[in-house]
Amino acid sequence: MFIAKGEIDMSKKQFRAESKRMLDLMINSVYTHKEIFLRELISNASDAIDKIYYKALMDDAVSFDKANYYIKIYTDKQNRVLQISDTGIGMTKEELDSNLGVIAKSGSLAFKKENEIKDGHDIIGQFGVGFYSAFMVADKITVISKALGSDEAYKWESTGVEGYTMSVADKDTVGTDIIIKIKEDTEDEKYDEYLDEYRIKAIIKKYSDFIRYPIKMDISGKRLKEGSEEEYEDYIEEQIINSMVPIWKKNKNELIPEDYENFYMEKRYGFDKPLKHIHISVEGAFSYNAILFIPAEAPYDFYTKEYEKGLELYANGVMIMNKCSDLLPDFFSFVKGMVDSEDLSLNISREMLQHDRQLKLIAKNIKSKIRNELDNILQNDREKYEQFYKSFGRQLKYGLYSDFGSNKETLKELIMFYSSKEKKMVTLNEYVSRMPEEQKYIYYASGESNERIEKMPQTELIADKGYEILYFTDDVDEFAIKMLMNYQEKEFKSVSSNDLGIDTAENDESSDKNKQDNLDLFDYMKNKLSDKVKDVRASKRLKNHPVCLANEGELSIEMEKILSAMPNNAEMKADKILEININHDVFKSLKDAYDNDKDKLALYTELLYNQALLIEGLSISDPVEFTNNICKIMK
Ligand code: ADP
Repeated sequence: MFIAKGEIDMSKKQFRAESKRMLDLMINSVYTHKEIFLRELISNASDAIDKIYYKALMDDAVSFDKANYYIKIYTDKQNRVLQISDTGIGMTKEELDSNLGVIAKSGSLAFKKENEIKDGHDIIGQFGVGFYSAFMVADKITVISKALGSDEAYKWESTGVEGYTMSVADKDTVGTDIIIKIKEDTEDEKYDEYLDEYRIKAIIKKYSDFIRYPIKMDISGKRLKEGSEEEYEDYIEEQIINSMVPIWKKNKNELIPEDYENFYMEKRYGFDKPLKHIHISVEGAFSYNAILFIPAEAPYDFYTKEYEKGLELYANGVMIMNKCSDLLPDFFSFVKGMVDSEDLSLNISREMLQHDRQLKLIAKNIKSKIRNELDNILQNDREKYEQFYKSFGRQLKYGLYSDFGSNKETLKELIMFYSSKEKKMVTLNEYVSRMPEEQKYIYYASGESNERIEKMPQTELIADKGYEILYFTDDVDEFAIKMLMNYQEKEFKSVSSNDLGIDTAENDESSDKNKQDNLDLFDYMKNKLSDKVKDVRASKRLKNHPVCLANEGELSIEMEKILSAMPNNAEMKADKILEININHDVFKSLKDAYDNDKDKLALYTELLYNQALLIEGLSISDPVEFTNNICKIMK
């Protein structure tokens, strides 16, 4: 529809449903740090200037004068208006519609459970939620914007959930004005402060000091007239509020932890409090500055395909890419932050960048810095490392496994597993340093949870020996360890493997004898179970339990479970061995049945096999038959 200049298209447009809910949360928010809305808007303005600045540098047609790039704040107490204007790239009509009509972080809302977002507290705290956060303090928001290269400016206006209007507007210069009509004070909430220039200045200092463009404000007041001792005059003075030096160009010892935290928030790297920052300044053959963060918590989409790794890349202070994936290896994909290098060319293309020698050197350097920082946390702040590991340990283990194990040297000291003895996470180094001299292997047990593994019959002999067992509860664990093969020349051994490598001389002899004695019985059982098991044997590892499954060959039972759960499973089966505890009373019944009642033996065999499956967390093929069999013996 054609709209004449200044004429308002009164047909209200509706917000998308999700955005509507978010708006509702904002308008009725009782969030205590409402001031963050200013950080969000200034951050948007700065991004918009980044974009035009970059265009100006790349395109001769766009004029370039640094003085033209700034953010300006106006306050008008009388009319309760706070205005944030920028000389950024602006938005077209379509962009106003699509950017402000729908909330960008819809994923964050989908992610949070219904009951958690009742008051929006969590959402605002954790996700910031950008432009919409201004509705925490606004009765009405007007956005007037003129996009670069567009003749027309447009006005977007909304008083809240009912929707928004769009119309043509008057604006000569490219950029965006956000005009906020501040709410009236209520008994519980003070909004006046967002009209107070000192308060505004303080908020900007606190959250946006490192914004690289000047944030200007007119400061007004009264001052003594020159040459007079009692006569005052009104004055207005334009002040730049922020220091403007980007944080990564500052000296480390001028900065306090809060500075880094604010930078993390301002950049929206995450909405948690970062666990650790890494500030790098390298000078020499290649030089760069970087501020990296290890987040405390994995983003909700971290372990999904949607997650995109990468660091912001600046060429001499100008952002040229917002997610440069070549700077981070996959196993450190959780790291957030930015890199600025003087040695990179501004107009380097993505394709060229991939092959850029400079970038490769930086990436390599970054990788080792991150690795060393993680090691440093591990050595000096165990609690923090465990917190980190909870969020991202799985990623490190994937790293061990992927690329044919080519990163195992980088990562093997950083991984941890739960220990049967320590009852907490331990490193491989700690495990090996505690091994008794005669212990040959690093033992591990795989299962669904620590609680389930704890009860596995296969662990009995090893536990009895006093050896430590590592618990593998992640899908990737066993695969990662197979890739690693050994640690400090000690091989890994599953507690379910056929040969545990534990010398029990007397035990061996007697069991060998027993094996001979019971060969016919075991043969009979094996035939009954036909292709389900590879063998039936007397167990050397069982103490109290009557039966368990052991496994021979490369593919473990746990791996079989994981592979068969995959979409195009290849029906791979582990070679299973049914182990019988010949010191258990049940064994007497087996022998008795073998001598006197073969039907009964068949029934017992079936029952024991199914029991072993259940213990292992495998499903039994015919549960009805299984329960019927139990009833049979109860009779
Ligand atoms: P986010 O900034 O996280 O994407 P917002 O809701 O704050 O989410 O903003 C949505 C989008 O609107 C931005 O990504 C940007 O494209 C656009 N935008 C917001 N503010 C401005 C501005 N001052 N100038 C130009 N574009 C803007």
